Formats: sequence, structure tokens, C-alpha cells
Amino acid sequence: MGKVITLFKLLPKLHQMLLCGLVFVTLIIILMPSDDVQASKQTPSASGEYDVNTRYDVPLAFRKPTPPSASLSESNPSQRTHSEPLSQSREPNKKQALAEAADKPEIQKTTAPKLKEKHFQVKSGDTLAAIFERVGLTAKDVYDVTQLPKAKKNLLKIMPGDDLVIAKTPDGKLAQLTYHLDKITTLIVTHNDSGYKEQIVTKKVEARSKFASATIENNFWNAGVNAGLTPNQIMQLATIFGWDIDFALDLRKGDQFAMIFEEEYADGEFLKNGNILAAEFTNQGDRYTAVRYKDGNYYSEEGRSMRKAFLRSPVDFKYVSSSFNPRRLHPVTGQVKAHRGVDYVAAVGTPIKAAGNGRVIKSSYNKYNGNYVFIKHNDTYTTKYLHLTKRKVKTGQSVKQGQIIGTLGSTGRVTGPHLHYEFIVNGVHRNPRTIKLPKSEPIAKKEKAQFATLSKTMMAELEHNKQLQIAAQ
Ligand SMILES: [Zn+2]
Repeated sequence: MGKVITLFKLLPKLHQMLLCGLVFVTLIIILMPSDDVQASKQTPSASGEYDVNTRYDVPLAFRKPTPPSASLSESNPSQRTHSEPLSQSREPNKKQALAEAADKPEIQKTTAPKLKEKHFQVKSGDTLAAIFERVGLTAKDVYDVTQLPKAKKNLLKIMPGDDLVIAKTPDGKLAQLTYHLDKITTLIVTHNDSGYKEQIVTKKVEARSKFASATIENNFWNAGVNAGLTPNQIMQLATIFGWDIDFALDLRKGDQFAMIFEEEYADGEFLKNGNILAAEFTNQGDRYTAVRYKDGNYYSEEGRSMRKAFLRSPVDFKYVSSSFNPRRLHPVTGQVKAHRGVDYVAAVGTPIKAAGNGRVIKSSYNKYNGNYVFIKHNDTYTTKYLHLTKRKVKTGQSVKQGQIIGTLGSTGRVTGPHLHYEFIVNGVHRNPRTIKLPKSEPIAKKEKAQFATLSKTMMAELEHNKQLQIAAQ
């Protein structure tokens, strides 16, 4: 660049001006949108289907609109180069192109007659070659198609139940092959005079938000199912509030939850559930809230991290039997007894999690505790896990919160399988389900304002939906 400027300065004044003018005009020509670009716009048929032998434009950065329900995959730069030269090659000869367009007004439209498509469901033991043979195509066609990298990768491992759509020309040649890679992405191989080409078409995924709520009658799981939640969503909800609520032992009749979650759709078809966006849980009169932020983490409506130093329960609620008996009989003595820990009655083999990060100070066996693990979290906190069937950690080992440290059992002095869990603060046994723990981290200062706005909107939305539901009852 420096050299160019130096050379430019050496030129006579008149030449300099001429050169500047030339550069300016050239720029104008390059930057002006061409009529061809406008004329070649095409959208798929109203049904959203793609017509065979119709050329759809790749959405370039400056070009709109794209087909309403579909956009070409961004991760397919090779496809862009297929259509770009078509538009660009006409640009230098705009006048001629326009003249041709006047002679043949249909020039940009489909020139070939509509082809007949055949749908094939892949059967057990099917190969691409077998399907091609059934439709009257040759081994050479199989070879040619699988020279394309994406076709090779996907078509050579077609699975029973997959759907292949094959369109042939009137003279029996392969014109187009369509293969759905999943609910939103489709591989399309087309054949024309210049050979085979492939492209990946991706449907636009639309997120819709949905509301669900329930009052717990006898069991959180059933309440979730009755509210229309999937097992996965029920577990997600329990995970979000798992630092505040012991879902195994603390739930009571009358507890309530409400949540807003995402559902993903493509072309009006349900794909899958997305994230929980906001939720509220009222447990024994205490209300907890959670809002999902763009960092993927959950914060209370005031902007404190849901993540805390300790999980309320080292056992997933789904393994624990009968949650609604606060006056549980002690599995050893058969009496209601205040003892120094919490007992979780569940099946032998139930995974037991470390309540917090820390170091295993003891992983051992004796005749009272059976297999037991003690974890020291810091100078203040220690947790103890007794009667395990198996220990999965060794003395001295570091553990992460939620890490499986062993499995529930009935070793030691017990009458039935259970986990005896102790929570010790400064050497004193405390109730892990009720103890007030240090407040969790607030959201980063620079995110605070943005989160507050989001939180306000989401909580208002939640409240609005709750009111609507009450009104509908
Ligand atoms: Zn116990």
C-alpha cells in the first residue's frame, strides 16, 4: 500500500485527478445493487416445500428476504460459491442480461418441468446402493453422489426409518435427492449439466415460551407430571432449587411451583423443550425464585447465584421413598428420635453425592458406621455419610460438589438401608435442612442492571400467568 501511495505522488496532478475519478466510478459500480440480484430472488412455494429444479438463492449478507421458513446453513461456505458466480457473472454485462430478460420474461424461473418425487423409507439392511437400484439408478450414480463430502458422510450410514426423497428427470436420471439429517437440517443433492452439488438446508428454530404450575398434593413428581412436565424438566426444576430445598425430605402438601420454559418449534412442528427461563418454588411458606441469565446460570430474582457452597440434600429426591413424613421413625431404633443427622431411606445402590467441594478426610469401615466417608469442606464445615454399600472415594482425595462418593447401603449398625448424613459446623452437629448458610455470590456488577431488567420482566410474566390461571379456575 505504501508503495502505491508513493507512486501516486510521483504522477502529474492531472493524472492523479483522473485516477481518483476512475477509482470513484469503479467503487460506485461495485457497490450498486444490480437488477439481476433483485430479479433472481425466489421464495419457495407457499407450503414451504422446495420445488425440484428451482434454484433458490443463498442468502447473502446484503440480500433479503430469505425463504420464510428456512435458511441455508451458515456452516456451508462451499455452497455459497455455487450460486455467487451465477449472479456476479452477469454483472459486467448488465445491459445484455436485461435485454435477454425482456425477450424471455421467464428467464429466472424454473425452466424444466416439475419432476416426480418418490419417497423411500429406509428398511433394515438397506443401503444407498439398494435404494438406488430399486428406483432404477445405477452404481455409477451411487459413486458420483458419494463423491460429495457431506453426502458421503451421511448417505453411507442411512438408518432404518430414515426418509429419502428421490426425483428423476423424464429420461430416468437422478435430478435431486433429499435426506433429512434431523428435524431441522436437510441434505439436498442436485444434479445438473455441470454435475452434482450438495447443500445443507436448515429450518429456522423458533422458541416459544410456555407456563406451567402446580400445587403439590402428595408428591412432587406427580405434581410435575400433572402440570405437563417431562421427567427431564422435573429434574431440572429440582436441580435449580437443589441448593435451597431438600427435595427428598422438605416438601409438604400445599407447596407450589410455577415456571416459564422454552419450547422449540420449526415450521410449526414441536421439536423439543428448551431451558427453564424463570421459576418460583414455595416450600413450607418460603418462596424461592430463579431466573436464567444469558450466561446459562440461574440467579434469584434479586440477582444472587442459585449455586451455593452446599446442596441441601446429598440424595436425589427421585430415589427417596415417601417424602411427607416429618416424624419419620429412625431406622435403627424404630422410634421418633432427635438424632445427630438426617436419615434418607432409599434403595441400596442409590448414588450419594458430595454436598460441597472439599477433601475426603476419612473413607473407611467400622462396625457402627459401616462404610463411611467424611468430607472436610473448609475450617468451618464437615459432612459425614454413613452406612454406604460402596465407597467411591479414598482418604485424602479432593471431591467436587455433586460428585458421587458412594452408594447407599445398610452396612454397620442399622436395621434397614438408609444414608445417615451429618452436617457439622465448627464441631457442632446442625440440621443441614434448616441451617442458614452463607449467602451466595451476587451477579457480577456489570451485569446487574441488565439482569434486573430481565428478572423484573420474567417475574412479572410468571405472576401474570399465575393470575390468569387462578382466574380460569
Ligand atoms: Zn441416622
